[in-house]
Amino acid sequence: MAVNVVESKEWYLAGYAAEGVPTTDHLTLRSVPLSFSLDSIPDAHVAVQLLFISVDPYLRTRMRGQEDGLYFPQFSLNQVITAFGVGRVMRSKDEKYSEGDIVLNAFFPVAEYCVVPSSVLIRKIDPEAGIPLPEYLSCLGVPGFAAWVGIEVLGEAKPGSNAFISAAAGGVGMVAGQLAKLKGCRVIGSTGSDAKVRLVKEEFGYDDAFNYNKETDFDAALSKYFPNGIDIYLENVGGKMLEAVLNHVNPHARIPVCGMISQYNEIWTKREGVRNLLNIVGKEVRMEGFLVGSYLDRFADFTVEMEGYLKQGKISSKIKIYEGIQSFAESLGSLFSSSNFGKVVIEVNKPR
Ligand code: NAP
Repeated sequence: MAVNVVESKEWYLAGYAAEGVPTTDHLTLRSVPLSFSLDSIPDAHVAVQLLFISVDPYLRTRMRGQEDGLYFPQFSLNQVITAFGVGRVMRSKDEKYSEGDIVLNAFFPVAEYCVVPSSVLIRKIDPEAGIPLPEYLSCLGVPGFAAWVGIEVLGEAKPGSNAFISAAAGGVGMVAGQLAKLKGCRVIGSTGSDAKVRLVKEEFGYDDAFNYNKETDFDAALSKYFPNGIDIYLENVGGKMLEAVLNHVNPHARIPVCGMISQYNEIWTKREGVRNLLNIVGKEVRMEGFLVGSYLDRFADFTVEMEGYLKQGKISSKIKIYEGIQSFAESLGSLFSSSNFGKVVIEVNKPR
């Protein structure tokens, strides 16, 4: 790289959003000069050009101004937002990394360029491995890992199990459905549009799916799709869907609670209550919240299995790519509608 100073655009939090979808009233883009001269990069740091940033629902919960629910630390006001991402090393003051290395970091600044301690980098990616880079944020990233923990570890998926997956066409859901099919389950999904119902059935192999905006009596829908009850419910949305599921669980059903996106934009006193939680007693249901960060000792097993599935074409994915760092606020807002298919990623700079 010839230049030593770049103007880098980055997103910071200008104000907390206790309720509603955060907008550009809360998120602001600014431009900052960054020096890449070797003298200005501290030892054990690398200068990175961001290539792809993962846009995930949990980011919203870090913009509330108060910890609850997922209990992620809140972003500090006026500080740059961070997210999972893929970048290219431009300058290195760590002998383990060289210019041109492609690296993964769970907490990259949502920016065009950055200088970060090399200790935060998770690993290098081999760009010649035949796997497109955004896939490291999708099937091979947090959503894929969450799906794997939910279905294989906590869901204990077995041949013949009846599995239900909400937000079935999202980053987690699309992988979870395919994993459950590979384990021999009968898999049903719920999602927000007819086009997404078709997608999960035709591309992700779901046995069936319903549009929760059309089939609004969830209890009736689950009676129809699960005549033999539900053994595994991968919970992604919460609220009324969870309540309906609890009327259809089989004895010893498992409910890995991955998230509850329908409740993320409400303060807790306004969130939907679940009136029939009592059912988990008589049905001896195991309902368990989890965070992928607590399963990092299994990440290597997951990666080997998932890379195998991808290379053999047993798992496919759909990735919605937003162009340019300026699209962060819009892409984050899109997670709370039914407008996108699959995993949402920003292409910050074009990979060469
Ligand atoms: P995603 O790809 O961003 O998909 C989000 C989808 O959720 C949207 O496309 C939308 O699809 C659906 N949705 C939005 N608002 C909804 C509402 N009010 N009611 C029902 N569905 C709604 O999300 P993801 O990455 O798959 O994440 C899914 C869940 O997993 C989230 O709750 C997330 O927080 C959680 N998660 C947890 C972990 C963990 O470690 N526990 C890791 C990753 C993700 P529709 O068209 O279907 O409405």
